[in-house]
Amino acid sequence: ADPQNPDVTVITPTSPMTPSTHGGRAKCLQRLVRLDLPVPRTVALSFAAVHDIAAGIMPDVPALLASFDEGALLCVRPSSQDPDWGGPGAILNIGMNDARYVELSDEMGADSAASLYMRFVQSYAIHVARLDPDTFDEIEDTGRDGLSAALQAYEEEAEEPFPQDPVVQLTEVLRSMARAWEGTTARLLRQARGAPADAGLGLVVQEMALGLGQGTGENGSGVLQLVDSETGLQQITGRYLSQSQGREALEQGTASLYLTRDPRGPSLEEIAPEAFAQLVAHAELMRVRLRAEMQIEFTIENGQVHILDGVRVQRSSRAAVRIAVRLADDGIIPRQEAVLRVEPRGLSELLHRQIAPEAVRDVVGYGVAASPGAATGRIVFSAAEAQASAARNEPCILVRRETSPEDIRGMHAAVGVLTERGGMTSHAAVIGRGLGLPCVVGAARMKFDLKRRRITTEDRRTLKEGDIITIDGTNGQVLAGAPEMIEAVLDDSFQTLMAWADEFRDIGIRANADTPADAATARNFAADGIGLCRTEHMFFDADRITPMREMIFADAPEDRQAALAMLLPMQRKDFTELFRIMEGLPVCIRLFDPPLHEFLPTDRAGLRDLAEALDLPVSDVTRRVEALQEYNPMLGMRGVRLGITVPEIYDMQARAIFEATLDASHDGDPVVPEIMLPLVSAKREVELIRTRIEAVAAEVRTRRGQDFTYRLGVMVETPRACLRADEIAPHAHFLSFGTNDLTQMTYGLSRDDAGRFMSEYVQQGLFGEDPFHVLDVEGVGELVATGVERGRSTNNQVTLSICGEHGGNPESIAFCRAVGMDYVSCSPFRVPVARLAAAHLAI
Ligand code: PEP
Ligand code: MG
Repeated sequence: ADPQNPDVTVITPTSPMTPSTHGGRAKCLQRLVRLDLPVPRTVALSFAAVHDIAAGIMPDVPALLASFDEGALLCVRPSSQDPDWGGPGAILNIGMNDARYVELSDEMGADSAASLYMRFVQSYAIHVARLDPDTFDEIEDTGRDGLSAALQAYEEEAEEPFPQDPVVQLTEVLRSMARAWEGTTARLLRQARGAPADAGLGLVVQEMALGLGQGTGENGSGVLQLVDSETGLQQITGRYLSQSQGREALEQGTASLYLTRDPRGPSLEEIAPEAFAQLVAHAELMRVRLRAEMQIEFTIENGQVHILDGVRVQRSSRAAVRIAVRLADDGIIPRQEAVLRVEPRGLSELLHRQIAPEAVRDVVGYGVAASPGAATGRIVFSAAEAQASAARNEPCILVRRETSPEDIRGMHAAVGVLTERGGMTSHAAVIGRGLGLPCVVGAARMKFDLKRRRITTEDRRTLKEGDIITIDGTNGQVLAGAPEMIEAVLDDSFQTLMAWADEFRDIGIRANADTPADAATARNFAADGIGLCRTEHMFFDADRITPMREMIFADAPEDRQAALAMLLPMQRKDFTELFRIMEGLPVCIRLFDPPLHEFLPTDRAGLRDLAEALDLPVSDVTRRVEALQEYNPMLGMRGVRLGITVPEIYDMQARAIFEATLDASHDGDPVVPEIMLPLVSAKREVELIRTRIEAVAAEVRTRRGQDFTYRLGVMVETPRACLRADEIAPHAHFLSFGTNDLTQMTYGLSRDDAGRFMSEYVQQGLFGEDPFHVLDVEGVGELVATGVERGRSTNNQVTLSICGEHGGNPESIAFCRAVGMDYVSCSPFRVPVARLAAAHLAI
């Protein structure tokens, strides 16, 4: 045996043990022993010992028993490395037999003794002898008669009398718990909770404080903690039950006493004030010395307090933030530690409404979790109905096959969006995240019958227009009905924690923001600037889409000039507003990158409206729409290709940006706008556009008689741009990786159609994750790393960043930081998650 790591050891302040040899519970109990808390005598069995037991090699059980007082009752509990990995249930009252029953009847009363024995017989029967739990169904579970009946039932079922020898009892309990850990179900369960396949189990054998008896003092058991698990607020909470053991107080909640004084009924504080005061003092000591909010499990025996165990308090995300901040404020942990204790992903729970954890979920389908938060409303199938519903003050969920710019108003009016098609970067998803609107897309396994206005769910139920549904954009579920919700909270602790995170992080976090509302959200979440303003998104509103379409449709240069003249003041106003809201922080404006089809009407009514607006016959409009059709618009005349083909468009945008720069600088901090060219694949494209933009700048300077500076950059979102970044970088102040398109093009996988099979691919393990969600480090990442390295090689001043949706994903941020990017840019609502994730990386 290894003396440094004894397999069976009494827990003392100095007994050698670690969480990875004896498990977290054993280690925690040792800490409690070191604090001199009233912990009953405990023996720890190491992972190695338990492993041996499962293989049939028993430790010296008589010697183990001899560690305890003669006649003591014992309990055995699991001690896995991480308490979250679980383990077999505890077995209590080992050592109980006919002889002890007689003795205990004298000490504590016959009923209590019978009750103890009965509990042991039942749990031994079910968990150790593996008898059918029904065996005891008909038996009254109190008193002497009940006990005799239970012992008899055991004997009949097990075909042998109930074991009387404590050595046999303990041996069998240890064996059954060790084997349960090795079982397939237990292994799968713990692996699902993040445990490695070969995770070990330790066991702790503890002398019991009984919690039952008719003596003078109070008897019972319970749990106590100093904070509320849901809110994180300081409040003594827990459960206590007189005449109980183990977790009975939790299981039989209704019979329990209140802990603190309560008008609704008697409390432990009143019944046993001294014990209560001791418990609170112990919990406070544990908080300070174990540097965490702990839940204590305790038993009171004849008025004496015993601490059986301590575990970290279960907590919601909002409670986690409060608890961490207060521990740091109280000087118990440093700020870095507080920042590390909050899981970045969990923050999105705070930023959005959520389905209450205890609510019943009637799940009827699944899609891609495209924009977090949950929303409940009546089903509507068109943007117009959504607006009508909002006008009636009736929350609605907009259900579409997929969304297009025409749906924007409907999206604003709806509380959530559900689509049949699409993936993480399709229209509904991008806009949903921008608006902070919960969104589930690509729910293709439900049948969407838009004509008959109904949905057939995955379990073949029919949902009609007007029916109430709930979508959970955090996990992609679609639910029937209205489960209970909890509201978003951005309280002081949240702000404090975020401010601390900012002190530690070493990579910038900007927001993708297209509208003043987005920009305001970005500022609210303390983004370092705007990393991507998609200017075509500024034209999705109904009153603006028409001039945009006129511009797209114009054949003759003079028609186009007329349309552009209408667009110029709109853009100038947009940019001025953005600059003002951002108050001198950088704003990166991307010139038009419209996949043109997103702006074209899709149905007859739309064509007719457009014909009316353009004052043309429908047949003319139809013909032109057809002429503009592309086989693959995502790979067609997008981005800089449009800028090269119809240069007046980018000229107009550049002019609007420069004029807005002067207007906004006039009454605020000087603005240095950033202009970004999308979908570049060759350096000549950059050279050509750059020359024109310089000319526009010169002209605005002359006309306004004022100077300004600006930065010109390139979006690296085609594989070729990554490979040729060394040629492109000398012409750019910055390179921003557009990993949405880059992923699409690297995989040859349409971002709008991916939803159809992505969940299948992920389920079957073909892709570890949706690559539109988590950056594919191996493939797309290699292109990004190549682009970074080649870009820097010819321009070591160039600013590097990412602005695809991956910018808000913690793993992807780690990659971006590792390759040396200066900042990441993500949807405004993901900015807090990104700030915290970045801080974790730097600490
Ligand atoms: C990208 O392609 O990563 C990007 C940010 O641009 P968009 O999503 O607008 O194509
Ligand atoms: Mg793109």
